[in-house]
Amino acid sequence: MGRCVVTGGAGFLGSHLTEKLLREKHEVVVLDNLITGSLRNIEHLGGNPLFLFKKENVSEAVLVDGQVDFIFHFASPASPIDYLEFPIPTLKVGAMGTHNALGAAKVKKAGFLLASTSEVYGDPLEHPQKETYWGNVNPIGPRGVYDEAKRYAESITMAYHRCHKIPTRIARIFNTYGPRMRLKDGRIVPNFLSQALRGEDLTVYGNGLQTRSFCFVDDLIEGIYALFQKDFHDPVNLGNPTELTVLEFAETIIRMTKSSSKIKYFSLPEDDPKVRKPDIQRAEKVLGWRPKTSLEEGLEKTIYYFKKEMRQ
Ligand code: UDP
Repeated sequence: MGRCVVTGGAGFLGSHLTEKLLREKHEVVVLDNLITGSLRNIEHLGGNPLFLFKKENVSEAVLVDGQVDFIFHFASPASPIDYLEFPIPTLKVGAMGTHNALGAAKVKKAGFLLASTSEVYGDPLEHPQKETYWGNVNPIGPRGVYDEAKRYAESITMAYHRCHKIPTRIARIFNTYGPRMRLKDGRIVPNFLSQALRGEDLTVYGNGLQTRSFCFVDDLIEGIYALFQKDFHDPVNLGNPTELTVLEFAETIIRMTKSSSKIKYFSLPEDDPKVRKPDIQRAEKVLGWRPKTSLEEGLEKTIYYFKKEMRQ
């Protein structure tokens, strides 16, 4: 078993990945500056001798003593309101943070996996999205700081693979939900769940006919782990292809929480993608992976977590 670094390991996905790696008996060093991550996500791992946390800003440097076998680069604000609040750190971690993490992989002769995103497809003109689609991104819009940073991150990852022969991987992660999402991170799942559980109106942006496809976090982490184990360098979509409109999603949440909430409409944020659904044929073929958790099952676990968090 190897020694892994997880940048952003105190975040939502990073902390689930860290747990999975520890379960598989890897040693894990988490680097996180905690701007959107939280120590609460990893405090239960403190007693594990295989686990180490270092508060670091990976946009400045990725410095780890000793042997490193693999670097998972998950550090980045990932919710639209977070990257609107932290546009420059978002650009920096996608650009300099990725460069630093790749530099560390080169020095340590380690493998590297980039947490990329369906946002590289922007407001897509091809549907569902295949990895071969180049995307439709507004570089100067409010979401551009995230989309372009991740597109640059993919580009430099491929350059390090081609020039320095680093065994890299690129996961294009589609909307993922589950326990440990921050209640106030502003994304659809925490917003709708906390609103429904409080009996407040659900805030639907636009006409609610835009679509998303939601993957439960455990499935996503299995996909990341499968990709980690495969020597495959082109991007791989990871997500659940079950597509819903935002309105259908709101109705599902109201039904599952048995809430009396109603729906209230607000304006659509600038450049909000109209459709999103992963084509996962590559992941199925290369990794033998597909998500197993139904939306109902995943939401039940997530509702349980949110109820507990809201009582605190
Ligand atoms: N959305 C919404 N109400 C909310 C939060 C989000 O209608 O309170 C919509 C948003 O406009 C988008 C979709 O839900 O169309 C998913 O938004 P999210 O912020 O979760 O992430 P995105 O997929 O846009 O990156």
